[in-house]
Amino acid sequence: MELKLYPYTLELKHPFGVSSNTRTTTPSVYVGLSYNGLTGYGEACLPAYLGETVDTTVRFLQLAADLLRPIPATADVHTVLKAIDALGPGCEAAKAAVDIALHDLKGKMDGLPFYSQTGLGKSPPRATSLTIGIDSEALIAKKITEAADFQILKIKIGTADDKALVNTVRKYTSKPLYVDANQGWNDRYEALDMAHWLKEQNVLLIEQPFPVRRAEESAWLSARSPLPVIADESVKRLHDLDSAASQFSGVNIKLMKCTGLYEAMNMIGLARRKSMKVMLGCMAESSCATSAMAQLMSLADFIDLDAPNLISNDPFVGVTYQAGTVVLSDLPGIGVRPVTDHFSGK
Ligand code: MG
Repeated sequence: MELKLYPYTLELKHPFGVSSNTRTTTPSVYVGLSYNGLTGYGEACLPAYLGETVDTTVRFLQLAADLLRPIPATADVHTVLKAIDALGPGCEAAKAAVDIALHDLKGKMDGLPFYSQTGLGKSPPRATSLTIGIDSEALIAKKITEAADFQILKIKIGTADDKALVNTVRKYTSKPLYVDANQGWNDRYEALDMAHWLKEQNVLLIEQPFPVRRAEESAWLSARSPLPVIADESVKRLHDLDSAASQFSGVNIKLMKCTGLYEAMNMIGLARRKSMKVMLGCMAESSCATSAMAQLMSLADFIDLDAPNLISNDPFVGVTYQAGTVVLSDLPGIGVRPVTDHFSGK
């Protein structure tokens, strides 16, 4: 198989604020994996806080290209991905790009969408949350108006005054909310009070309230919270889930953290065995990676796959959004096609 790399800068429609930073673009590297005239596509989306850069990703993917060159696309997926993973530590987004492209290529070779190849079946459209970043009241109001189609909003909290932020949102909408503190909370008793108050505000779940290192606080809160407490930064890969099961009631799985669809499916299996809720999430990525993750929608409790709505220069089409739901395409593989010949793999 021949792996080609295409660095690209995704532009956000609005500056995106979370509790630790604000940004307007996200660097990414796309890949095309070709075999016998067919090309599968993949994406490594690289928000700076995860520590992967275009340079580290390109270096890793060049090693991956050397490894993949003598291997036919008919090779066993698990064997190929194990070899890719063994090329080096970290580089989860780069590994995800290869995983996504390999599954896309396999689907194209068989002429089947991933959800059919795996026997999951085509998920009906699922309501996704749309994320509203931390911002001024005027911009929050504008974003809520723009989100009119969406049935659930996700609010980034973890600020100095979260109640004021939620009250501001509630001036403009009564829709159910997910809240994501992005590790911004510190005190367990205040957190429990907030959880009760948030439940009264029609909030459905709390994501990553405490810093990753404060596992005991998360466990304490999860045992008492009237709302599910969902791990995000605390769980990247399969091996993080064992300890997280005693700290959280659910997990937000993202391809850019967990190295791709293969491991995501194993994580969903383990989460279920541990009676954890499953959320499918995304980075500020394009329709490429999001359409790949959407293949797994039938396995999840909560869908947070809004990214293509947040960027203005999406180089792919794939899933579509209708009345705030994610609708799968019937295309083979991960269900995408490039909108320009920039990623044609030539
Ligand atoms: Mg999060």
